[in-house]
Amino acid sequence: MPCGVLFDFDDTLVETTIHFNHAKEKFAGIMSSLDFPAEEALETLNRIDIRNVKHCGGFFKECFPRALGETYDYYCKHLKRETDLGLRKEIENLGWQVYEHPVKTMKNAGIVLKELHGRYPLYLATRGEPEVQEARLEQSGLARWFKKIYVLAKKDPDTYLSIAEEQKIAPRSSWIIGNSMKSDINPAIKAGFNGIYIHHPHTWDYETEEPIGGHIEAESIMDVLNIIS
Ligand SMILES: [Mg+2]
Repeated sequence: MPCGVLFDFDDTLVETTIHFNHAKEKFAGIMSSLDFPAEEALETLNRIDIRNVKHCGGFFKECFPRALGETYDYYCKHLKRETDLGLRKEIENLGWQVYEHPVKTMKNAGIVLKELHGRYPLYLATRGEPEVQEARLEQSGLARWFKKIYVLAKKDPDTYLSIAEEQKIAPRSSWIIGNSMKSDINPAIKAGFNGIYIHHPHTWDYETEEPIGGHIEAESIMDVLNIIS
């Protein structure tokens, strides 16, 4: 059976978490101007955000703006301060603005895809809302390199196996490439694929996990060309 290469999208091919981090910095600035504990508020925000994502069962656009608003509510209540609805709106808007940034591709992502494209069928496996992710992919200019784009509700071994089955590729000679141990590499290993973990300095806590088995680690996407012969 032929082999294929599956790429993750966010923080593997395009910058994503960096925009969330900018919003978090601005949020911390507002919290600190209110004399709220800014550092602690960022941890609370992360906790509420992860809880909401789990609760919704996926990455929905409204999760992050909602978590920002709820974190503000939490401190207003906790510190017995009145909620300023205008400010609350402003805080939620920090979350919505994340989606308005122009899509920025990772350095060399296009070169790597172009090079591999002639050799293997390439697939994109990303999570999130189809409408949002398809628009971002279009904007990135990378869509043309993929034989098929999968916008998934979850990334688990069964999902990867069903892609392999549908595309008639053999997991043991195929690759899954991404920046998340939890969503890309560990499920890849469980499903019998080869995994390439690409380090990204701004990977979200939610994606952190210990590796469960053998995989290859790379410093940048360019390394992929040396790993996959
Ligand atoms: Mg990712």
